Amino acid sequence: MHIDLTGQAAIVTGASSGLGRASAIAFAKAGAKVAVNYNSSADKAREVVEAIEQAGGEAFACEADTSDEAAVLKLFDETVERYGGVDIVFANAGMQKDAAYADLTLEDWKRVIDVNLTGQFLVSREAVRRFRKQGDRGVSRAIGKILFMSSVHEVIPWAGHANYAASKGGSGMLMRTLAQEIAGDRIRVNGIAPGAIATEINEDATADQDKLLELIPYGRIGHPEDVARAALFLVSDAADYIVGSTLTIDGGMSLYPGFRDNG
Ligand code: NAD
Repeated sequence: MHIDLTGQAAIVTGASSGLGRASAIAFAKAGAKVAVNYNSSADKAREVVEAIEQAGGEAFACEADTSDEAAVLKLFDETVERYGGVDIVFANAGMQKDAAYADLTLEDWKRVIDVNLTGQFLVSREAVRRFRKQGDRGVSRAIGKILFMSSVHEVIPWAGHANYAASKGGSGMLMRTLAQEIAGDRIRVNGIAPGAIATEINEDATADQDKLLELIPYGRIGHPEDVARAALFLVSDAADYIVGSTLTIDGGMSLYPGFRDNG
């Protein structure tokens, strides 16, 4: 399937590494102009922009802590100023601060909820405002597309990661509620739920490959490009009738693999 995003502008949050980086590159290769958002890693964001430009695409790096309302508004302002509008918003930025439940500090609880859930709220709310204001730019069937980065931990409980699992469970319901509320405006909202993909966020978990592979029926750990391809599909017109869905990209991790051998 050939996907063409020519004429569209995209914001990808947390795009200086991992899944955001791969998605920003995939969107740009498909013809979108991309705002590569980063929080603290300016050098890595610049490297993503360079990779996009070397491949003939267009992008710029834009600093914003997505849990900060004013910074999110500035991210959209800068993107609209450069590209004349915004058509695709991928709320990808996320983090983990893991601890056993009894040791989880309020500070670490709040920071993960702030970035993973409140950040997605702020980014998607601003996307809705901008899409409505700019109307139909004639570049896509929907007037705008929002993609929420969730996780298999939207549904699979995860001991030792209560703040993260709660944020992703919340992200799933936030996504579906928003999708229901604004589908009538021809704004499409969906989510993706990766399993174990080799990136910085889960270096510890992916280090013990044998243990992890027991949880993945398909028999391999995911690559960022596995997720980027799915993200690209969901923000494209090829997915025009997909509204309020979470696409799981996990090699079967959420299929209760413990039951493979008759439970
Ligand atoms: P990663 O650590 O490489 O990427 C996370 C990115 O988010 C980083 O670039 C980081 O700088 C950025 N970020 C963190 N806080 C931010 C903030 N306040 N404002 C802006 N950016 C911020 O890891 P990743 O695996 O690429 O994670 C991306 C998303 O995918 C996260 O939401 C994560 O929960 C989700 N996810 C990852 C996996 C996996 O296996 N890698 C699985 C399921 C879900």
